[in-house]
Amino acid sequence: MVIRNPHLARLTSRYLFSEIGRRRREFAAAHPEAKVISLGIGDTTEPLVEPIVTAVRERAAAMGTREGYAGYGDEQGLTALRQRIAEVLYGGKVAADEVFVSDGCKCDIGRLQLMFGPAARLAVQDPSYPAYVDSAVLTGMTGGLIEERGQFAGITYLPCDEGNGFFPDLTVIPERGIVYFCSPNNPTGAVATRAQLQQLVTAVRAKRALLVFDAAYSAYIRDPQLPRTIYEIDGAGEVAIETSSFSKPAGFTGVRLGWTVVPKALRYEDGSRLHDDFNRIVTTVFNGASVFSQAAGLAALSPAGLEATRRQVDHYLGNARLIREALTTVGFPCRGGDNAPYLWVRIPGKSSWEAFDELLHKAHVVATPGAGFGPAGEGYLRFSAFGHRENVEEAAGRLRRVFGGPRP
Ligand code: PLP
Repeated sequence: MVIRNPHLARLTSRYLFSEIGRRRREFAAAHPEAKVISLGIGDTTEPLVEPIVTAVRERAAAMGTREGYAGYGDEQGLTALRQRIAEVLYGGKVAADEVFVSDGCKCDIGRLQLMFGPAARLAVQDPSYPAYVDSAVLTGMTGGLIEERGQFAGITYLPCDEGNGFFPDLTVIPERGIVYFCSPNNPTGAVATRAQLQQLVTAVRAKRALLVFDAAYSAYIRDPQLPRTIYEIDGAGEVAIETSSFSKPAGFTGVRLGWTVVPKALRYEDGSRLHDDFNRIVTTVFNGASVFSQAAGLAALSPAGLEATRRQVDHYLGNARLIREALTTVGFPCRGGDNAPYLWVRIPGKSSWEAFDELLHKAHVVATPGAGFGPAGEGYLRFSAFGHRENVEEAAGRLRRVFGGPRP
């Protein structure tokens, strides 16, 4: 038999969502009359907007004709789409050929790891989106798991909590390391200010490190003072890759379309270009995004598409407001949800799983235990704004009723 990649054995089990499912099923079996509402999942729920549906229909019809049929395209994506991303989303701050269109941001996070090799040193926000660490584990760059801490020996964890305003101490970034930074953040909903991102870029540059900036939720930023891309920050073009997605701004979690910007100015220690290597990786292990999702992406960035998807994002932000108002009314400290679709909530005196159980049993509402995103997430719950409005309204009403009275 074949020999298993030993790094696979190091991946920690997908405990979080399976444990949520187990507890939810157990509760439903014991209380079949209860209508459980999930405010836990990070998946979108609203249908695709009309300009996108029309564009995909038209593309599908064209693919059924000799003239309109297209086979393999450029692995880096349609030129028109790369141009539109560079113009519409980056205002020309990046060049079209620095944009690599993909089948999603998570897939790019996995492919990016191939550039660094097992000796690379990684720093991640704690808590953080699990794909950064998990994809690094697969390449062998993380070292062994320290069981009692739930952390890998080869990774520098950057705790983000109330004590530091959810912005980490940057002095510990490893020399020539790779720093993953996500803003607006999943799971905390924290959005870094311009000054903070400037500090980040400066710190990364001082350590001769590389920043991988995850902007998957940038469309949720409504405050005009907050940067929507790392390339708004001076000097970022020489130290930062940005990866992003149509998943959350346009509901493409099932359609699958994202992109990664690799500026040509980014260099390795030996002077060679990261852009060349990422191009090589994309042309080796990826064969380009689907013609349909790219047609959808072009439509999402048309004037009508931008207008309609902005309204959809507003709708989710409206959900976030309803959840935040309910949580604040009952006295649970929470942040996020203003320029992000997630709220990061503390139920005073409870661990994440105790808070999860209390919410499920008393309000029949599911949220995601913060401890599942890293040790610094202990004591928090993540609420998501991606549900349907009627469910959000009902859940918010239940929170007010159940937790609104005097607390022991
Ligand atoms: N990055 C972050 C921070 C996310 O939360 C998610 C999805 O939840 C992704 C990336 C994945 O994006 P995509 O659907 O494009 O793979």
